[in-house]
Amino acid sequence: MVAAASRFSKLTSPTTVSLPKALLEQSSGAFAFRLSDDRITAVAGKLFIIATPIGNLEDITERAVRMLREADLIACEDTRHTRKLLNHFGISTSTISYHEHNEQSRAEELCGLLEAGKSIALVSDAGTPLISDPGFRVVNAAIDRGISVVPIPGPVAFAAALSASGLPTDQFYFAGFLPPRSSARRAKLIELRAIPATLVFYEAPHRIKAALKDALEILGDRQAVVARELTKLHEEFTRGTLTELFQRFANSESRGEMVLIISGSDGSISDSETSPETRLCDRIDQLERDGVDSKTALKQAAKELGLKRDDAYRMLVNQKNRRSR
Ligand code: SAM
Repeated sequence: MVAAASRFSKLTSPTTVSLPKALLEQSSGAFAFRLSDDRITAVAGKLFIIATPIGNLEDITERAVRMLREADLIACEDTRHTRKLLNHFGISTSTISYHEHNEQSRAEELCGLLEAGKSIALVSDAGTPLISDPGFRVVNAAIDRGISVVPIPGPVAFAAALSASGLPTDQFYFAGFLPPRSSARRAKLIELRAIPATLVFYEAPHRIKAALKDALEILGDRQAVVARELTKLHEEFTRGTLTELFQRFANSESRGEMVLIISGSDGSISDSETSPETRLCDRIDQLERDGVDSKTALKQAAKELGLKRDDAYRMLVNQKNRRSR
């Protein structure tokens, strides 16, 4: 794999440079790791997307530390938070805030600096920027202007969780955070339920119980894992069926950062096998999401599914009672 990566990088290398002797010696073996391009090409005017630890300060690459030190400026979600990381490594590079509330204007400003030849490192509070974190706007603005965007890979919570989950990893679907409101969350789960790949979500501790409940009702009793506090002192993997996980998290106060992983569809869920009640409620949820008022949604869904309106209403009430239990 390393050899293949080297071959590929040669093909895509933008400029021919003469390598210093020490680098040549280190990279001459067939399976030698290739030292990064930024040791041998200019860093000026480039945007570096740098992954930082998700809890354990040892989880940062040498290259990331060096780039943070050598960049002209570090754009970070929270300058005070990132300063702690920089202090730990004795890095004194200047920082500038870049977060969801100033992304648009800051993206322009950062591109101006990049075009003036400055090198900028983008970090988020933890893990890989742009993965459920800010950065999309500046990356796109940079690409539009022909500025090089260079990833410096490292920790990302979903990959760490998935790798130790024990659930299939040959195909997975990373869905980020589920919506906080139950109706939108259920609609999202309906959208995902036929996917035959492992489903991966980020979830907040105060919503894990509700998310597990909705997942159980929409996806069925699949195998699942909650990976909590990865790389930290209280790292914990809870594995089981969705019913078991729901019982576990319903009975205790949940704390810490979490990744929820649920096995993919085994092909057994199809419209014809889903209960009429679930199909009715799913359709009503969908119509309401499209802006239809609840009365019309009930009427339309009942008609589409060939149900009498009174029966449909009763089914809806039953389902709602079950959900709120
Ligand atoms: N950019 C980050 C990454 O690369 O993983 C994700 C940022 S997102 C705002 C934060 C969410 O990631 C948390 O709510 C949690 O779901 C997940 N997460 C981050 N660190 C984690 C950890 N140490 N253990 C478990 N989940 C974590």
